[in-house]
Amino acid sequence: MFKINTNYQKLPGSYLFSTIGKKVRSFQAEHPEKKVISLGIGDVTQPLAPAIIEELHKAVDEMAAAETFKGYAPDLGYEFLRTAIAENDFAARGCEIQPDEIFVSDGAKCDCGNIQELFDRDNRIAVCDPVYPVYVDSNVMAGRTGTYDEGRGIWSNVIYMPCVAENNFVPELPKETPDLIYLCFPNNPTGAAITKERLQEWVDYARRVGAVIIYDAAYEAYISEENVPHTIYECEGARECAVELRSFSKNAGFTGVRLGATVIPKDIKAEDITLHSLWARRHGTKYNGAPYIVQKAGEAVYSEAGKAQLKEQIAYYMKNAKVIYEGLKSAGYSVSGGVNAPYIWLETPKNMTSWEFFDYLLENANVVGTPGSGFGPSGEGHFRLTAFGSYENTAEAIDRIKGI
Ligand code: PLP
Repeated sequence: MFKINTNYQKLPGSYLFSTIGKKVRSFQAEHPEKKVISLGIGDVTQPLAPAIIEELHKAVDEMAAAETFKGYAPDLGYEFLRTAIAENDFAARGCEIQPDEIFVSDGAKCDCGNIQELFDRDNRIAVCDPVYPVYVDSNVMAGRTGTYDEGRGIWSNVIYMPCVAENNFVPELPKETPDLIYLCFPNNPTGAAITKERLQEWVDYARRVGAVIIYDAAYEAYISEENVPHTIYECEGARECAVELRSFSKNAGFTGVRLGATVIPKDIKAEDITLHSLWARRHGTKYNGAPYIVQKAGEAVYSEAGKAQLKEQIAYYMKNAKVIYEGLKSAGYSVSGGVNAPYIWLETPKNMTSWEFFDYLLENANVVGTPGSGFGPSGEGHFRLTAFGSYENTAEAIDRIKGI
């Protein structure tokens, strides 16, 4: 008789967004006349930029002729895309990352879920709290965590690093020593960014204790402040200790197109084994590459026209972020985020729990957001709103919230 991976059974309840979906459907069934506005799920709404669409069409046509048809992509991804990423995301910022240290993938979610399999099961992980749930859940599935404390919402054998108003939502160095450190800046859900000086402290720390940092830069394109690093490789020594996850989802609207990249510098070694060689082996065995047409579309992100159009798209979402931030602030809420990220993080009023505030907002303003407790125990008493809606819906949602 087969046996299942019982680690899966340890995972609590249903996924955050399915619970939200159920609540919204049942509210809408009871109140079909109400127009519910969602500032909840972190999905983009603007169409792909014209420069990207044009390249997609061209690439599709190439697939229609034997001379230009493409089959399997090279293991690491097409050279044209890896070179564009290396030049624009790294060399242009003074960072030394070679194209063959970049692995093209179909998005950051798979990579941040899969990267843990390069490491021994006994490694201890440290995570920001609150944070994108995939880091912890993928380690639960791999059996790297202990037991779940339902009441406190935490796993044993995981180092939680609270990110709260008192530390500006940037974690302090942990008291216990981790082997793997997940950092995500700009952060989902708090919208907080980390300064270069603070990130350098993390890089120095990781090198000192022999840990690897898994740095999720999915929201890098939203950075507006000067002293905020766009990549961890802006920090000295990061080539020896940091893996970086990049995504085309939020900077270019590829959530449904699917494209990402993981950077593994060849200097990260356990004794004389490079992490790069392990990921290359894994990629070769378990992955057959992002589609050619999508990689061509990714290249267009770095064209002059693409860059200009995407700058406008990001400005559109960040205008929404400003409407949310300022609207809530004027209504007396304690808010943060929204300056270097498309997320606004607010303290729930009157000591409501995150879920109580979710219900309150849905019933009274017909607005959907995301309860902070879904991202970790320190998210309790907080709530996330996203700037990814249309401007009209965002403005209306904030008017309604101000009116309750
Ligand atoms: N990392 C973070 C922090 C995210 O918030 C998300 C998506 O919301 C992802 C990764 C997933 O990105 P992708 O669409 O590239 O899989």
